[in-house]
Amino acid sequence: MRPRPARVPPGSVMSAKTSFESLAAALDAEFQTLDPVGRLTRLREAVEGRIVFTTSLGIEDQAITHMIATAGLAIEIATLDTGRLFPEAYEVWASTEERYGLRIRAFSPQAQAVQALVADQGINGFYHQVEARKACCSVRKVEPLGRTLNGAAGWITGLRADQSDHRQGLGFAVFEAGRALIKANPVFDWTRQQIVDFAAAHDVPVNPLHQKGFLSIGCAPCTRAVKPGEPERAGRWWWEDEAKKECGLHVTEDGRVVRTAALSPDVARA
Ligand code: SF4
Repeated sequence: MRPRPARVPPGSVMSAKTSFESLAAALDAEFQTLDPVGRLTRLREAVEGRIVFTTSLGIEDQAITHMIATAGLAIEIATLDTGRLFPEAYEVWASTEERYGLRIRAFSPQAQAVQALVADQGINGFYHQVEARKACCSVRKVEPLGRTLNGAAGWITGLRADQSDHRQGLGFAVFEAGRALIKANPVFDWTRQQIVDFAAAHDVPVNPLHQKGFLSIGCAPCTRAVKPGEPERAGRWWWEDEAKKECGLHVTEDGRVVRTAALSPDVARA
């Protein structure tokens, strides 16, 4: 199912693609003057159709879940259950559903694809080659993400500019042509400390691993705690080159973070 076009002014003759692009640009500018709750509320007002927030259950995403739930916004909350998450992630998932009285929809990898992957590279083959790691991320994350966003008109993420050099090139709202949707990053300009303070002030359920030096939490075998002073994402795929550390959900084939209308579906799955 294709997403419905975003709202456009009455009488407009703009194409759906152009209307998405224009709306994304307008929201990007508008979001500069709003706080994260205001951005989420405005996004919901401005975009018709399904909006999905993909949560990793990390602290930024927990803050956004709190904002969506307490503001009563009609935004779906979904997570990618890769099958390799920390036990603590499942605990915070359950406590979040209980605290806010909502359901976080799970998208799991295809069983046959996982079986073929493990048969090919072994259960932890991702440690041996970047290509093997990308293949694992493709099966366990990228393909399920495609199903999660299928038919969505909007996609919300917890990306922040100061998480990595890569992410500084992002914005508040962009049109992502490959998925034909508007991608919004409502806490893009927040620091980690702002997120931590917000979570504490509102008693947001957070993964206890954050207190043990796990700043960015992904799959258990691919995440370690970072030392004081290390970059936030240094604990993700730590055995690889710094330049190759995104999982494919937010970057293009050549490693650029997606921020414009140039992404094709094939590249998005690289
Ligand atoms: S983060 Fe690691 S375990 Fe998770 S999908 Fe990627 S390679 Fe596989």
